[in-house]
Parts: sequence; structure tokens; C-alpha cells
Amino acid sequence: MAKKAELEHVYNQYRHSCAVAIGAVSAGDFQTGVREAESSLSHVYPTITYQKRFLKTEPDAPTLDVLLRYAPPLFLEQAIDAVERWYLSGTRTERGNLPDVSERIASARSRATLARELWSVLDAAPDAHLAVSNRNPAELEIVRTWLRLGAVAPSTRYGPQQYERVSDPRRSACGRCSGCGHTITAALSRLLDPFPCPACRREHPFVLLRYTA
Ligand SMILES: [Zn+2]
Repeated sequence: MAKKAELEHVYNQYRHSCAVAIGAVSAGDFQTGVREAESSLSHVYPTITYQKRFLKTEPDAPTLDVLLRYAPPLFLEQAIDAVERWYLSGTRTERGNLPDVSERIASARSRATLARELWSVLDAAPDAHLAVSNRNPAELEIVRTWLRLGAVAPSTRYGPQQYERVSDPRRSACGRCSGCGHTITAALSRLLDPFPCPACRREHPFVLLRYTA
């Protein structure tokens, strides 16, 4: 059994990661939030052990919320895979302290699929627009994240609850290669046209992550 000092050390590292991840998300830097949450996964189980054994508090792992909420609209399925691998690596007791994680992973996977479907609507044509239903909270949340990223804007032509892709071609933007996951910063016009990815050297479409200027 791990000693109190060891658990406390991990707990403090985890608390730092929580502050970084939540701070990044509040500032609209979802990428950094998800990355920090992913890198702190190995600290979650020891943190919960420390919370239960020494602080006598309920398990609390806010980085999982950041990860499972923002990975889907950012198309970061690898981050969801990482949560699943981490969760399954736990002992029966460790997993028992977080009984709803399997269900939340499944929900994140279906939201990731939904995000890809919604984006393919916007990607179909330069003037494509997306109608979002108030009755679908998952759709609303995905589009709300894209709005904060500056990837979509409310459509002025089609009325309320309609969104279009923001596409000033001169804007500098950050994009992710849909083939290998490599991210680059370039003019939007360059990202939207097929060109060889500097990392994998193939012409996969780039997914727009955010505007950088
Ligand atoms: Zn690539």
C-alpha cells in the first residue's frame, strides 16, 4: 500500500493539473485543457485513494469532465481512447470508486461521431449551413464549443439556430491533419485546400481547430 506522503505528492500534482486544465478551458484553449487532462490520467486513481483514505471526501476528478466534454468537439478520439485504457487499468476497487466512467466514455464516443457528422455538413460546400435543434443538448454543446473556437458563426442568411463555417481565407488558423493528427498553423485558405501534410506527407483534409489571429 502506498504511503501517505507518496499519495499526497501525487494528489498535489493532480490538483495542479486540474488548475491548468480548468484555467485553459475557461480561457477558450480547449486543446491545452484536454492535453493536460490526458497527461494527468495516471494521477487520478492515487488521488482518489488519498481523498478517500486521508481527506475522507468523495472521489472528485474534474479533469475527466474536461476531457470527456471537450475531446469530442475537437475530434480528439485518441484522448477518449486514453481515458478508456486508463480506466480499464484500474483495480476493481479503483474502478468502483468511479462507477459511471464507462457510461461517460460511451457518451463521449457518440458525441465524437455526432461532431464528425455535423462538421461534414459544414464541410460539404463553401456556403453550407448547419441547423441546430434546441432539443438536442449534445448538438448544442458541440456547436457552442465551435463558436468559442471561432470555427463557426451564427448564419446571417438563414435565420436563428443556423451556423456556418467561418472562412475569411486570410485568417491564420490552427489545423489538424485528419490522417496523422499533426497540427500546423497556416492561413485558413491553405488549410482548407488539400496539400501535403508536413508530417505524414499525404493530402488528408485538415480539420480546423481554432483561429490564432
Ligand atoms: Zn498528416
